[in-house]
Amino acid sequence: MKWEQTVRDGETSTPMIAQWRRLKEAHPDALLFFRMGDFYELFFADAVNAAPALEVALTRRGKDRGEEVPMCGVPVHAVETYLHRAIRKGFKVAVCEQMEDPAEARRRSGKTLVERGVVRLITPGTLTEDALLDPLQHNWLAALALERDRAALARVDLSTGRFETEALDRDGLAAALARLAPAELLAPVERLQDPLLARQLREVSDRITPIAQVRFDPGVGARILKARFGLADLAPLGELERAELGAAGALVDYLELTQKSGGFRLDRPVRIDDGALLQIDPATRRSLELLRGPDGDRAGSLLAAIDRTTSAIGARLLARRIAEPAARHELIRPRADRVAVLVEDDRLCHALRALLAGMPDPERPLARLAAGRGGPRDLRALGDAADRAGKAGALLQGGPGCLAILLPDLLGLEELAERLLTTLAEPAPLRVEDGGLLQPGVDAEYDRLVSMRDAGRSHLDGFEQRLRQETGIGNLKIRHNGMLGWYVEVPAAQEGRVPPDFIRRQGLAGAVRFTTAELQALERALGEAADGAQARACEIYQALCQEVLARAGRLRSAAAALAELDVAAGLAELARSGGWVRPELVDEPVFAIEAGRHPVVEAALKANGEPFVANDCDLAPDQRLWLLTGPNMAGKSTFLRQNALIVVLAQAGAFVPARSARIGLVDRLFSRVGAADDLARGRSTFMVEMLETSTILARATERSLVVLDEIGRGTSTWDGLSIAWAVVEHLHDKVRCRGLFATHYHELTHLAASLPRLALHRVKVQEWQGSIVFLHEIGKGVAESSYGIHVAALAGLPKPVLNRARQVLAKLERNEAKGTAARLAHDLPLLALLEEPAEDPEPPADPLRVLLESVDPDSLAPKEALDLLYRLKQAASS
Ligand code: ADP
Ligand code: MG
Repeated sequence: MKWEQTVRDGETSTPMIAQWRRLKEAHPDALLFFRMGDFYELFFADAVNAAPALEVALTRRGKDRGEEVPMCGVPVHAVETYLHRAIRKGFKVAVCEQMEDPAEARRRSGKTLVERGVVRLITPGTLTEDALLDPLQHNWLAALALERDRAALARVDLSTGRFETEALDRDGLAAALARLAPAELLAPVERLQDPLLARQLREVSDRITPIAQVRFDPGVGARILKARFGLADLAPLGELERAELGAAGALVDYLELTQKSGGFRLDRPVRIDDGALLQIDPATRRSLELLRGPDGDRAGSLLAAIDRTTSAIGARLLARRIAEPAARHELIRPRADRVAVLVEDDRLCHALRALLAGMPDPERPLARLAAGRGGPRDLRALGDAADRAGKAGALLQGGPGCLAILLPDLLGLEELAERLLTTLAEPAPLRVEDGGLLQPGVDAEYDRLVSMRDAGRSHLDGFEQRLRQETGIGNLKIRHNGMLGWYVEVPAAQEGRVPPDFIRRQGLAGAVRFTTAELQALERALGEAADGAQARACEIYQALCQEVLARAGRLRSAAAALAELDVAAGLAELARSGGWVRPELVDEPVFAIEAGRHPVVEAALKANGEPFVANDCDLAPDQRLWLLTGPNMAGKSTFLRQNALIVVLAQAGAFVPARSARIGLVDRLFSRVGAADDLARGRSTFMVEMLETSTILARATERSLVVLDEIGRGTSTWDGLSIAWAVVEHLHDKVRCRGLFATHYHELTHLAASLPRLALHRVKVQEWQGSIVFLHEIGKGVAESSYGIHVAALAGLPKPVLNRARQVLAKLERNEAKGTAARLAHDLPLLALLEEPAEDPEPPADPLRVLLESVDPDSLAPKEALDLLYRLKQAASS
């Protein structure tokens, strides 16, 4: 139908398809959304490939070179939904618009083909539409440049215009990328040949866009930046490194290529100083679940547990704070000062939170308006934000300095707010064409044209009534569409009753459409009034846009100040309701936490009405490494992570869940979970574990905090133990960082004799009536035994199996005295027994059988198989 419509609309298929081919040629890797009236159409392979992803019907219409043309289409008014689907399914979209009005083109030049052009390429990193964006997260488009031993990341959030660059050592790259988690990453195609780098990149971004290396040329980059920001010299941007110039240049180049209409908002780049930030690498982020919980979404993350912000910009800023805590006092102090003031003054805190609640996002509307893609609703959102900025300013007047410092950003927009809010209707229409832009009484000329237009409409209603009576056709209708304008429609069966002065315009399957002289006259009058009203609305809208854009910088600062206030008030609320304290941040390498808690586990327990047991942690210089033993499920991992999270919170400028905290600033934070706990990631886990461990040994400094949870589990006992042993020694003697290790290798506790700064701690449990009670309490010393069988009992293993296990254990423990080789045997058969409950409740008779039955040959690594052989031999000879 659409095909025929087009042809009838004046275009003929052949030249149009030729036009399509020309445009498609320029964008072979994108779906061409080809505008035809009220639809975007896709043709040929685009249609075939995209129809299932877009969930629209694939049809075949017309003929081209003798073949039927596959096509599918999506309505313009719902295009965002379809763009969302296409981008999510990994397509890139080229949006092709009609560059002139079809009717106009026909009237003016008798042209049969409407001029079309691609106005924009949409990729995951270049989204600006609210419907396509997560309001709580930045949507970063990043570019990576590599220069010898230096790397640089340039990134832009096109939905807000924020532009940043960061220069790094090559080995700091992983941490920086993980912090950013770009929606799309531009990388030099030649470098992607390097499989290690390619893997590293894929880990942090779903979308890698390969770009030719030449586009990363620093000289070209410098020229592009100068042109973009109208600078004769780059000095105002700071001392950009060569790699930074390359990355920034490639990024701007890509934006200019994809945002054809040219209008996109880009602030001057801000340099991120990586020394100013707490470095957290990808594995650490995963293991601490900072922004994403165990299932990869927000639920269960630290962020979800602490977010009490009430606006989208506040939530985004908080996410950023958690993703990149600072490592300098001067960055952290003012943030924590604000939280502290609001903890004290809970009336002010509540007033601010109430003021900001539900505030529409001002950053993204501003970027859209600057790009010429905005609408009245965006203006209204900015008016709302400006209004709230003024009110927030009023609340802060005369307040403490750490808040008053925001006043210049908040105040001074009251007039603009007033104009926007009193001019624009509420709710404002999405587009000016939708009508209803202004509040009544704002503009006399507009009101006059609107009332004329409305009178015309009611006239049409009366006309319809009259025609029905005159013709006797009860279901005669007067309707409007873009192609015919106003028309009279009667059912085909009634065509005979139509008066002779009706002019036939179109016949459909069940109906016939006419016009009449009177209808045309009415249409003209109505059209003139409507056009007039529309033109007037456009004029006023444009003027408001100009006014807003002229103050864009001020609006941005106001939004940033509001986000700061929302974050501070949210954290203050959290601190007050949870009994959190302000950490004391110092330069000495101390770490003294009194009664610390794990915010996420505590919240989860609380939901079940269970208490969380608070624990102290003191990594003073003379005991800066703690070795923690204790049975499974005792709370080792929880304790380790809670201390790492306390560092993240403290350096993000938040309060922390503890009675008191004194922390020497941490430069790098590392957290690793033994590979056995990380099986779901399905890689050669031991290899991964060792890679990650080697990163720590290479990168940790005396100012770092290292948390290692059961490292060495991914391999056989001896390997694992020896590696864990060597790692602890290295951290103790060479790196000299603060650290916490949980281990099930009791042998490791012997290290305390030779390492003076290693302190032994255990998680206490109580044996009670043959069972154990977890106290979740950390104390000095070494856990007595592994309590594995107790845990197995709690997990409901059948009694006979448990009894047999006790026998085997007793025997093995007797063998222990025979020497270390026996200890090896002690560890593995028992673990195997516990992890794979036997189907048969009858205890097996023979220890060799126990061992063999517990083995799953398919899951054994060659090395483990060899170990097993040794153990079998050992068991046979004992
Ligand atoms: P481990 O690493 O020693 O096996 P986890 O740290 O995984 O033990 O803790 C196991 C469970 O014990 C947690 O899921 C939590 O429910 C509970 N738990 C841990 N620490 C505490 C605590 N301090 N207070 C209360 N419950 C805790
Ligand atoms: Mg654990």
